[in-house]
Amino acid sequence: MQCPKCPGTMETKTYGRKITLHRCNECSGLYCKPDVLTEMKREWMSEIVLDTGSKKVGQKYDVIGDINCPECGIPMDKTFDRHQTHIWFESCSQCEGMYFDAGEFSDLKRDTFLDRVRDLVRGRRPDAAT
Ligand SMILES: [Zn+2]
Ligand SMILES: [Zn+2]
Repeated sequence: MQCPKCPGTMETKTYGRKITLHRCNECSGLYCKPDVLTEMKREWMSEIVLDTGSKKVGQKYDVIGDINCPECGIPMDKTFDRHQTHIWFESCSQCEGMYFDAGEFSDLKRDTFLDRVRDLVRGRRPDAAT
């Protein structure tokens, strides 16, 4: 599979039993489907194993906005995570594939963890008030 952002090749990577995605051998961009993303958020250490690219390289490629889906070849939409609206990524309206620049999934995952911690703190607050 050809990387939509650079001349590199998207290689198939697996982690655990449920995670299969594609990672570019040049820019380390990640391409996966929503159900795989859900598993990646759940799986301990998945960002260390899968999102190996340098954040600097990712930021360089993040400015490339208009890319085509590596599977369908149609233009992908720039979209943001429903829960973490500051994290933007490309998604395909046809196959629902998603493309993350190097480092973006690590951001997403870390924020997911922090949100969970914040929720816990918030949940405890009424008790502390009494
Ligand atoms: Zn690439
Ligand atoms: Zn597609």
